[in-house]
Amino acid sequence: PSGNLTSLILNKVTEWGHHTASECSVTGRKYTYSQLVDGASRWAGMLTKMGMKKGDVLAVVMPNCPEYPIVLLGTLMAGVVVSTVNSNYTAGEIHRQLLDCDAKMVLYDPVLETSVDGALAQHQRPLLVVTNGPSARSGALNLHHVFEDTNIAFADPVELSGEELALMPYSSGTTGPPKGVAITHNGFSSNMAMYSVPASLPVKEATATSQGAFMCLLPCYHIYGILPICLIGLTKGINIVTVPKFDPNTFVSTITSHKMSTLHLVPPLLNFLLHSPSVTAESMAHLEHFVIGAAPVSPSAAQGFKEKLKKEIFFQEGYGMTEVLLTHVVPVGTDEVGTCGHLLPNVKARVVDTVTGEDLKAYEDGEIWVQTPSMMKGYFQNPTATAETIDADGWLHTGDVGHYDERGFFKIVDRTKELIKVKGLQVSPSELEDLLRRCPAVVDVGVVGVPDDRLGEAPRAYVVTSKMVSEAFIHGFLEDKVAPHKKLAGGVCFVKELPKTATGKLLRRELKRMAMEGSA
Ligand code: ATP
Ligand code: MG
Repeated sequence: PSGNLTSLILNKVTEWGHHTASECSVTGRKYTYSQLVDGASRWAGMLTKMGMKKGDVLAVVMPNCPEYPIVLLGTLMAGVVVSTVNSNYTAGEIHRQLLDCDAKMVLYDPVLETSVDGALAQHQRPLLVVTNGPSARSGALNLHHVFEDTNIAFADPVELSGEELALMPYSSGTTGPPKGVAITHNGFSSNMAMYSVPASLPVKEATATSQGAFMCLLPCYHIYGILPICLIGLTKGINIVTVPKFDPNTFVSTITSHKMSTLHLVPPLLNFLLHSPSVTAESMAHLEHFVIGAAPVSPSAAQGFKEKLKKEIFFQEGYGMTEVLLTHVVPVGTDEVGTCGHLLPNVKARVVDTVTGEDLKAYEDGEIWVQTPSMMKGYFQNPTATAETIDADGWLHTGDVGHYDERGFFKIVDRTKELIKVKGLQVSPSELEDLLRRCPAVVDVGVVGVPDDRLGEAPRAYVVTSKMVSEAFIHGFLEDKVAPHKKLAGGVCFVKELPKTATGKLLRRELKRMAMEGSA
C-alpha cells in the first residue's frame, strides 16, 4: 500500500467537491472540498516557486482557522514538512521553535502579529514570510492571494517515498520543553489504516447528499487537532468547523447548529458540557459518540452526562502520544469508561518494571513500552533524546505508568517522572488525587512531590475548593484512607485554579515550580 499521506487524502477528497471542507465557527468563512483542493494545489505550486524543496520546513503559527487544513494538504503535496507552532506562544517561544525546527519559511496569522514580530526580530536566519490575510509586514505574501491567483499553476503532488517526513508537531511540553517529533508519511498512513478496521473509530463517510461535521476546538498545532480531527476529517468528507478560541456560547451553538454526532474532547471540556445549562437532552439529541484523550476520562462525569442527556453515548477513550500517534482505543461495541482501550492492529506493547526490566502481569503497574509502524523517526535533529526514548530493540518507552487487565484493556495512571519518592517508596500522585477528589468541597486537585529533608520528597496537594475548608480538614479526610508514607507531609495549598496545558493536562511541572518558588 502507498505510504503517501498526500495521495491517501487526495484520492478521497475529489468525491466531495460541493461539500464544505472547513469553516470558521465565528466568521462563517468557509471552503468547499473543491476550493480546498484548488487552494492546496496553488499553495503547493507557490511553495515550489518560492524555492521550497522536499524536506524543507514550513513553520505554521495560526490559531485554528479554516485555512489550516488547506495549508496542511498543500504543504504535504509539495513535499514540504509542516512544523506546527503553539498559537499561544510568546515571541521567545516562537523564536525557539523556528530555530529548533530549522524553518525556511513561516506562515502566520496577523492576529498573532505582535508575538510573531517579536520572534522575527530575534531571528537572524533568512526566512520567507507568508501571512493568512492582510498584514503590515512589508514583503510578506498573503495566503489568500495565492488561493485566488489564477496565474499560479496547480501543482501535482511531488513524488516521495513513504519514509520521508510529513509533519513535525511538537509534544505538549507537560514534562519538559516541547520536543519536535518527526513523523513520516508511512507513520501517518499506517496509523490511519489502523482505525479503518470495523472496531475502531466509527465516523460516517460523506455521501453525495450528506456529510458530518467535526468540532475543531482542540488545537490544530497539536497532534490531536492534526490527526483525528483534520486528517481523518478530510478522508471522510467531514466539515471541519474550526473554533479559534474557546467561548462557552459559540462552543455549544456550534454543536447544535451542525447537529454534530461525534465530538472530540478532552476531560475538562466534558466537565464543561456536564455543567452547562444550555446542554440539554433536546438540544443535544444528535450526539452519539465522544472521542476523548490526552488525560483519563472520569467514569462519574461520563455517567453524569449520559443521565443528563437521557441516552447512551459511546465514550471512546483513546491513548497516544505525539511520538507514536494513536496506539490504544476503546473498541466499538464495548461500553466502558475508565480505560483507554486495547491495542490497535499492528501495535505491540509491554508493561515493564523499570527497576528489574521484567515484564509485568495483568493489573501490575509498570512503564508502558510500545512498538508501532506509526512511531516517529525520532526527535528532530536530537539523536540523544531519541536514544533515551527508543531503545536498541526498537521499543519506545512512553514514560507513562499503567497496567492492562485480563482482556488486554489498558489504564494509564501516572508518569514515571512524576512518581513521588518518599523514603525510597514510590507514591502515586494520581492515586492521592483520585482519593482527594472524593473529599467534600474539593473541586480539583493536583499532587506533586516537594523536597523534604527527612523524607527525601513529600507529597503536597494543591486544591481548588468550592467553599473554605481548613488544611486539617483535608488531612483528616485522608487519615484512615492511606498508609503513613502517602500522607500529605508536604502540606496542602489552596489555589483558585490549577495550571493545565491547552489539551487540559495537569501541569505538575508548574506546581513543582510554584513549590520551589514558594509562590503558593
Ligand atoms: P511532553 O512529552 O512534552 O512532556 P506530553 O507527553 O503531554 O508532553 P503529548 O504527546 O501531547 O505530550 O501527550 C502524550 C501524553 O498524554 C501521554 O504520554 C500520556 O501521558 C497522556 N495521555 C494521552 N492519552 C491519555 C489517556 N487516555 N489517559 C491518560 N493519559 C493520556
Ligand atoms: Mg510526552
